Parts: sequence; C-alpha cells; structure tokens
Amino acid sequence: MAQIEKFAFYVPTLEELAEVLQDGLKENFAEVHVSVVDCPDLTQEPFRFPLKGICGKPRIADVGGVPNLVPLVQKDKVYDLNTVAKEIQLPGAFFLGAGAVSSRIVGGNAELIPVVQAKNETKAAVNGSYIAMINPEDNGCLLEKYSTKYKDCEFGLLANLYASEGLAGKVIEVKAHRRTGEQNFISCIRKVLEQYYGDKPVGMGGTFIIQKGRAKIHIMPSEFSACPLNTDGEVNNWLKFFEMKAPLICQPVLVSRDPGFDLRVEHTHCFSHHGEGGHYHTDTTPEIVEYLGYFMPAEYLFRIDRPKETHLVGRD
Ligand SMILES: [Zn+2]
Repeated sequence: MAQIEKFAFYVPTLEELAEVLQDGLKENFAEVHVSVVDCPDLTQEPFRFPLKGICGKPRIADVGGVPNLVPLVQKDKVYDLNTVAKEIQLPGAFFLGAGAVSSRIVGGNAELIPVVQAKNETKAAVNGSYIAMINPEDNGCLLEKYSTKYKDCEFGLLANLYASEGLAGKVIEVKAHRRTGEQNFISCIRKVLEQYYGDKPVGMGGTFIIQKGRAKIHIMPSEFSACPLNTDGEVNNWLKFFEMKAPLICQPVLVSRDPGFDLRVEHTHCFSHHGEGGHYHTDTTPEIVEYLGYFMPAEYLFRIDRPKETHLVGRD
C-alpha cells in the first residue's frame, strides 16, 4: 500500500478567482477575459472526453515523482488509476492530467495524456487517454489513443492528476490572447494565484485549448537513459523537443504553492486530432497565440507514494 497524504486546499469562490485571474493575467496577455460560465459539454469537439464536465468533488493527486525517472529509472514504480481513484476517496473518478506510461505494458517509455473514467462498482473503466511516443521510423511524434492497443489503466513513475465526478456545472473560463509576458499560460495563472493567496495554497485543474499558433512540446525517448541524468541540462539533452501546431487540447494540473509535499507545482500534457501531443512547455508564437481554458479549484490534494529520496532536477 502506497503512502497517502491528504491536504485541504484553500478554495476561493469562482467569482473571486475569476477577478483575481482577470487582474493578474492582464500583465501577461494583450487580451484577457475571465468569467464564470457553465462548463461546455466536454464530450463534444474538440475534447471528445468520456464525461461532460470537470465538476463534482474536485481534487488533485500527485503520484510518485520525477525522482522515479531521474537520475535513473525505477521501473518497479507502477500505478493504476482505478487504485488511485479509491485512494483519493472518489471511486469512478474522472481523471485528466499528465503522466508517464507503464513501461511494462507499453514496452518502453512514453508520455501519457490521461483522460480516464475509473471503474466503480457497477461500471468498467473508460480509458480515453492518449499516448505520445517517439516514432522509431522517423524520430517524430507518434500519438495514439491508448485504447487502440491496451485495455488497462496503468501508468508508471509519476502523474499529476485532476479528478472530479465529471459533472456539468459552473467553471472558470479563461480566454487569453497574444502573450506579452515571458511565462507560459499555466505558470502565469499559478504565479498570479501564489501572489494573491500566498501561504493559502490553491490547486486547479481542467482543460485548455491552444487555438492558434504553435507550442514547444517534449516527448520522452522510448529508451530510458542508461547513464544517470543529474542536471536539468542532461535531462533536456535526453528529451526530444518539438514545435507542434494548434489546435492542441491541454490538461493542466497546478498548485499555487507547495505546502510541503514535494509537489510538481505545474504539469500539463496535451493531445490533438492531427497526430501531435506531449508535454507542454510554452507557446512559440506569442504574437498570435490564443488560449481558451476551463478550470476548477480543487478541494483536496492527495500526495501518493512521495519519493523518499528527492531533488529538483527535471521539474520544468
Ligand atoms: Zn510531462
């Protein structure tokens, strides 16, 4: 049984959050409009999720961590989203987020873009995840629907997950056009929240679309590094970087400030319907970029199987 720690986030009202984000994001984008809206039906284009919304018992899980990947991989670190759903006290949870695949299932390393309704007492799991890997043919991106090859809900090493009952309801809509600041969309949001809420940590997750422009995305190689990766530079040399084009559908998980659980405070993976996907760093076309996002503040953080030996390498 993995170690599980639980923490109650500070949960502002949606109206207050919308105001705080409207004010803060103006510093980083030419055009910003933040409001409280009904969540659009996420079973529709371009999302095609198994459930309609991101509301109902919102929570965040940070499972494992980068120390399971570097300096050297620990392949025995394997997890299951059905188990995580129970561990976060939400059987049948709808998960969105960012993680790594289970290499014992996939036969190598790859980015996992989890979109999963976990099983409950009456219903089997629905796995709508994507997997982004390096194509052995041409070293390009190979994005596949997880369910075309696999039937399980495993993942490996680490995952940052936003979980809810997948219900419709009120959410925060963020429209941000033309980036004027240096930070990526999610870092901007996180830093605005950290500045405003300080030592009252706020957690958020949901989904956003990069509607225009291109983005810097990485994919981990299929082979784990045989030699230890001891610095950010060594990790970046090992990763494969791409410039991918909009529209990209991104699943962010963010925590304004780590309350002391050795968290990855932001992590975003994305997929598309044109064969591209992976780990989001930032857009590369600030002058034309358009972001449209739907977010919910989480009530609880669950820290699952926190690595015993830790470091700050490779958390970008
Ligand atoms: Zn990632």
